[in-house]
Amino acid sequence: MSFLPQPVRIDPVASRLSLPLTVDVLRLDLLHPVVSGNKWFKLKGHIGAAKDKTTLLTFGGAYSNHLVATAAAASMNGLKSIGIVRGEAPQTLSHTLLAAKEYGMDLRFVSREDYRNKKIPGAVYENNDADKIHLINEGGYGPLGMQGAMDILLENDTSSYTHVIAAVGTGTTLAGLVSASLPHQKVIGIPVLKKAYSLQDEIQNLLPQAKHKGFELFWDYHFGGYAKYNDALFRFMNNFYKQTAIPTDFVYTGKAFFATLDLIGNKHFSPGSKILLVHTGGLQGNASLKKGELIF
Ligand SMILES: *Cc1c(COP(=O)(O)O)cnc(C)c1O
Repeated sequence: MSFLPQPVRIDPVASRLSLPLTVDVLRLDLLHPVVSGNKWFKLKGHIGAAKDKTTLLTFGGAYSNHLVATAAAASMNGLKSIGIVRGEAPQTLSHTLLAAKEYGMDLRFVSREDYRNKKIPGAVYENNDADKIHLINEGGYGPLGMQGAMDILLENDTSSYTHVIAAVGTGTTLAGLVSASLPHQKVIGIPVLKKAYSLQDEIQNLLPQAKHKGFELFWDYHFGGYAKYNDALFRFMNNFYKQTAIPTDFVYTGKAFFATLDLIGNKHFSPGSKILLVHTGGLQGNASLKKGELIF
């Protein structure tokens, strides 16, 4: 039984250009307002693996969707959560950190250097038993997250699609999609970080050898880098919303959706293609934008 909504058909560009292809959006953003989208799938396996633990501990920046999703998933499963946050404690917490705190996450701010080394402050162990802490990598990267993400394609019958497209941060979700994909399907990833070429290996490292060539990354849709944006991106997101009533976020899905329609416009897909565009969620990230930039 599936708790995922069925993909919805949209084709604003395709119909305008009279291209014989279809685009369906799989709206993981509808699953939960905070643990939205792919984060939920990536955390599933960790919740199972933490059965004998009391606490989830993970790492993130002030705008990390993964951090707040971990906080929410922990609180829904009767677990405590600790978030190691990059940088000094700010005067005012970001929306993301506030939300994480509301879910009971114990936020510990560490210097950029300690963060880079993924050093856990000793104070954490003063009131937590190290054996009872389940560690989750930054961004949920790793095999457990990848296995959970496979279900994104498996909960509905997605076998008729020829292409599956998603935004890429750590690449864990994309690795899950590649892993669950069928031989006739091409999986396309849109990295939202600038020149993050190590992603190619990081994704392959999660996959069996036979799947190493099962995906393609398009590097030119980062809009300047992680969480960077410009007017063209906002214009696209607003137009897309007007045409489809589907909201996107400026960090991940806005860029992946822009890329998809751009690739369609550039005749990247052959006639008859059936594209599944995965809406990975992340909408709460838009709360950090100035009012009025987005119409939704
Ligand atoms: C975290 C996130 C991603 C990236 O997922 P990875 O598995 O790290 O590649 C994509 N979209 C949204 C909305 C996210 O929050």
